[in-house]
Amino acid sequence: MKSNKQRRHEIKQRRWARMEAQREAALRPAMPHGALAADVQRLELIHGAPFWLPGYYVDISYRCCDCGAACVWTAQDQKWWYEQVQGSLYASASRCKDCRARHRAWRQSHCDAAEMAALRALWRARPDASARARVHAALQSKAPDLRSLAAQALAWWWVQFGDKPAHAQLEALSLERSWAPRIDRILRRQVELRPGVHRVCRVVAYPRVTMGAALSGH
Ligand SMILES: [Zn+2]
Repeated sequence: MKSNKQRRHEIKQRRWARMEAQREAALRPAMPHGALAADVQRLELIHGAPFWLPGYYVDISYRCCDCGAACVWTAQDQKWWYEQVQGSLYASASRCKDCRARHRAWRQSHCDAAEMAALRALWRARPDASARARVHAALQSKAPDLRSLAAQALAWWWVQFGDKPAHAQLEALSLERSWAPRIDRILRRQVELRPGVHRVCRVVAYPRVTMGAALSGH
């Protein structure tokens, strides 16, 4: 037989537990059933501190922009793209597998690997007239990859050597959506240029709330 005091104590305990559970549920955004949790710390390391990071991944349906086929960008593929490939947060799947292969072949046929390597090599040294001419030519190129590498050369010249012509040229460019974030990161010195490594990012530490932060218990 329980005393009144004991009973009151138990009721209080249960009420506490219920309130705790409610409080925790309110703090934690619901992750949909079957979703794949994102490694938010890794994402922060890769992408610096953008205003948004995915907290989890769910399968996304889309139509191929070339042939119109119905496709699914799976949660696993998204995780691989954002966390392993370190792909842009602004990019999403737009082509089916076959069209992607065709598109890549087209890009490669229009883009010369030797020229790409040559442009990357220009990043490290103070620009001379021939380097400037090469970058200028690449900026006029039809290949987006070459235009991107040329713009990155300008950003690196400004960041490393305070090269004013490069800065002026960069300001006059209309930055393309696919590479504007990368240029921005270089200019804000969130990326380090090391031999042979093009994607080394520093973590920029300022507080920010992400959906995943609550999920991973921070
Ligand atoms: Zn397609």
